[in-house]
Amino acid sequence: MFLQFCKGKQHAAKLYSDWFRKGHVRDIADWAEPQAIPLVEKMIASVDFGLPEISHRREEGGTVKFLLKFGDGFESESVLIPMEAGTTICISSQIGCKMGCAFCETGKMGLIRHLTCEEIVAQVFCARFVLGREVRNIVFMGMGEPFDNYDAVMRAVAVLTCSGGLGFGPSRITISTSGKVDAILRMAKEANPALNLAVSVNAPTDTIRNKIMPVNRQWNMAELKSAMLEYCADPRREILVEYVLLKGINDSLEAADLLAEYLRGLKVKVNLIPYNPQTRDRFAPPDEGCREAFLKRMREHGYQTLLRGTKGQQIMAACGQLGNVDVRRERIAAKVESFLR
Ligand code: SF4
Repeated sequence: MFLQFCKGKQHAAKLYSDWFRKGHVRDIADWAEPQAIPLVEKMIASVDFGLPEISHRREEGGTVKFLLKFGDGFESESVLIPMEAGTTICISSQIGCKMGCAFCETGKMGLIRHLTCEEIVAQVFCARFVLGREVRNIVFMGMGEPFDNYDAVMRAVAVLTCSGGLGFGPSRITISTSGKVDAILRMAKEANPALNLAVSVNAPTDTIRNKIMPVNRQWNMAELKSAMLEYCADPRREILVEYVLLKGINDSLEAADLLAEYLRGLKVKVNLIPYNPQTRDRFAPPDEGCREAFLKRMREHGYQTLLRGTKGQQIMAACGQLGNVDVRRERIAAKVESFLR
C-alpha cells in the first residue's frame, strides 16, 4: 500500500485516485503525456502496491468475516455486515487489545501489536476491490481499542475520507472506545464533528463496570460522563452509547433505570447488544424477556434505543467474538522457546 505521495503533484494525484477509486493503476500510456512517462514509472516503482493476503473468509447469512495476513504473519479481523442502508464494515485497529474487557474475546489475547494506518485502510480497500463489496459505513469496532492507537487511526480516517480517493463522508465512520477519557477529550478538540463516536458504557454503576471493564479503574463513570459532556458541547455531536447485556449482571430493570439516570444530560442514542457466546464463557446472553423489557424501559425514559440483532455468531463474527486466543498462546510459547535456546 502507499500513502507517500499525494502531495498535490498532478501525476501523483492521478495515480492515487486510480488506486483508491478503481483499485488498480491504469496503463499510464493512456493518460500521461509521453515526456512524463519516465517520471510516472519512477513513482510507480517507488510504491509498494502489494496487498495483504486474505487468509480466511467465512460467511453466514450474508455476514462475511475475513482476515488479512500481514508480512509478519499476524492477521487483522474484519466483518462485512449487510444492513438496510448498505454494507457496514467493522474493522480492527490492533491485533489483540490490552483493555481486557471481560466479555470480549479480543480482550483475552492481550495486545499483540498496533495496526499501521496502511493496514487499517487495507481492510476497507480489500473489502471493496478484492471481495467486491460496496461499503457504506465503517465502524472501528473490530479488534483493538482505536484510541490506544490514536494517531494511526486518525491518519487512516484521513485517507478513508480523502475526496481524491476512497471519499467516505466522515459521518459514515464511527470510532468506538471502551472509555479512554484522554482520547475522548482529544477527539473533542481535534476531530471533524461529523465523525461519529461510540462509547462502550456497559454498566450502570462503577461497582459493576469495575468488574467487567478494567478501564473503569483508570477513569471512573463520573470522569467518563464529564468527558462525554465536553464532547457533546458541540451541538453537531452526539454519542452512540453501547451496552452489552450480560445475564444477571447488568440486564435488570433497575440497571436500566440507573443507566438512564447516568446518561441524563447527554446527547446520546443507545445501542443494546445481547452478549454473544465465546470460547471460554464466563457470561450468558440475557433472556429474550429481559432484553425486551430493558429496551422498553430505556425508551420509556426517553432514549432513542435499539436492540442490535445478532449477526455472524456461528462464524465468530459477532460483537465481542473477534480475536484468536491461540495467537497469544503461540506467541508466549515462542518467547519461552527462544529464551531457553
Ligand atoms: S471490547 Fe474493545 S476495548 Fe474491550 S477488550 Fe474488546 S476490543 Fe478491547
